[in-house]
Amino acid sequence: MRRPQSAPPFPAPGHDHGPCVKETLARAAEAFEANGLRLTPLRRRVLEEVAASHHAIGAYEILERLARKETTRMAPISVYRALEALLDAGVVHRLESRNAYFACHARHDHSGARRIVLACERCATVAEVAAPVAFDAIDGAASDAGFRSTRALVEVAGLCTACAAAA
Ligand SMILES: [Zn+2]
Ligand SMILES: [Zn+2]
Ligand SMILES: [Zn+2]
Repeated sequence: MRRPQSAPPFPAPGHDHGPCVKETLARAAEAFEANGLRLTPLRRRVLEEVAASHHAIGAYEILERLARKETTRMAPISVYRALEALLDAGVVHRLESRNAYFACHARHDHSGARRIVLACERCATVAEVAAPVAFDAIDGAASDAGFRSTRALVEVAGLCTACAAAA
């Protein structure tokens, strides 16, 4: 059996999300500083929208939400650039299969991340879990085909803990 992780990948639906957001913002500030960059107010605003839940959210929805809150209109290009910077810093990830973004709520090192992404089809909650064996198998299959893999992406659709319990 695998050992349980410190925090459950899928938090309880009614959990106090404040600390999750606070932690993500703190980690973002650290990550930017480590790269000699700044968590600018715009980057922070975009991150706050993405980190507002454990769900994946599309760039268009981020724009919509910001437009509803901000007094000055934000250019879509600036929001996309902020998202790119957040992706590079590893505090936001892309859910490629849905062209959406989610905040990294896992305190993990992303260098050589061998993690799969679990995405709930019902409530859009996303979680990352380590699955090194899956990537060994992928690398093995690729290498058997005479292919040298540089990056593998595994996204799994299904039901999160809460939705599975409700189903
Ligand atoms: Zn949370
Ligand atoms: Zn992550
Ligand atoms: Zn769910």
